[in-house]
Amino acid sequence: MVRAEAPGRDGDRRRPTFARNAVARGPALDRLLAGLAARLEAAGYAERATPDADTSVVLHAVDARAPRPFRRKAAPTFVVAVAQLDALPPDRDAQLRTGYPLLVRCLANLCLLVVDTPAGLAVRFVTLEQGTFGAGPGLDDDALVAAVFDRLEPLASSRLVIANEFVADLPDHLRHGDAATAQMLRAGRALDALDLLPAPFPLEEILPPRDLRHVKLLYGIGGLSYGNLSARCTGGDVTAVPEPGGPVFWMSASGVDKSELRTIGRDILLVRGYDDRRDVMVLSVPPGIEPRRVSVDAIEHWMIYREHPGVGAIVHVHGWIDGTPSTEVNYPCGTVQLATSVAELVRAAPNPTRAVVGLRNHGLTITGESLDEIFERVGARIVPRVPMS
Ligand SMILES: [Zn+2]
Repeated sequence: MVRAEAPGRDGDRRRPTFARNAVARGPALDRLLAGLAARLEAAGYAERATPDADTSVVLHAVDARAPRPFRRKAAPTFVVAVAQLDALPPDRDAQLRTGYPLLVRCLANLCLLVVDTPAGLAVRFVTLEQGTFGAGPGLDDDALVAAVFDRLEPLASSRLVIANEFVADLPDHLRHGDAATAQMLRAGRALDALDLLPAPFPLEEILPPRDLRHVKLLYGIGGLSYGNLSARCTGGDVTAVPEPGGPVFWMSASGVDKSELRTIGRDILLVRGYDDRRDVMVLSVPPGIEPRRVSVDAIEHWMIYREHPGVGAIVHVHGWIDGTPSTEVNYPCGTVQLATSVAELVRAAPNPTRAVVGLRNHGLTITGESLDEIFERVGARIVPRVPMS
């Protein structure tokens, strides 16, 4: 059984394009959209009259009280939901409570809330990883649009690696896992006990079933998650593909209950490699099982294992440890750019095999000898609240 899902982005060498999809209008919305369109054009994006399967970025302007979904024709399209509000959300919680449901109802990758204040326009961002940040007020329109563009464009042009290829060739002796997957069960429970669950936003309650299926396929997620775990598979006769010397590791599936990581192929997947020509993660699964998708961060873990043979396990949490160095740009989960910037921080750490690195507005990635070792070393220091900037 060989099955590929959600084809990765191709044609990166073509000129990027954007389209405005103005379902709603408003003075502040119009000012922001006109400014962003001009910036995108100046940056080499060609404007299309209507969005199609090839469109790189869609500016989807909606009514905040009645958001409409934008159903993209291809996964690589980056959809920015933009809505005008009457007043600025007073704090991060309010920003998230307003913006996050809008983001998922619009089936967008990013949500921008724009407000016309006496001191000029203000824009607030909400990301799929529940990151919140903003620009303005206090700037003229040019400076504001420039600030928004600088935060938006790197995200919009990042490349998701969310395609999974399942090959039903898991060796018999690994059908029920090994010592590393036993540690994953323990570590998953430790992660669960940290109580990092994004409780206020159950996707099932925000979205109708049809849109929920769409979201899962698009973002490559099985549900809203709060982290993932992986452990190198050292069980011998499993060779990496397509690069025989590459890493082989177990990783939690996307959106699963982290406290019950038991079934191989469903809760835990064996990652055998990353095929960069086809942009797919290759997974070895037991025959006769309907596999789940691997966590979108598999590409990030793959890069770290490949570069650091001493790393035996990796934990990613949507939590924080005070004083952690952080990535500059908050790239979305599952992108090559996020993986590369995390790998750079791991490389720069005093000890890459025992590193704690921060993903801006998002969470932590922690390397270690084993999952048990990681939780022993840092488990007690992880706090639920990620600083936002
Ligand atoms: Zn994450």
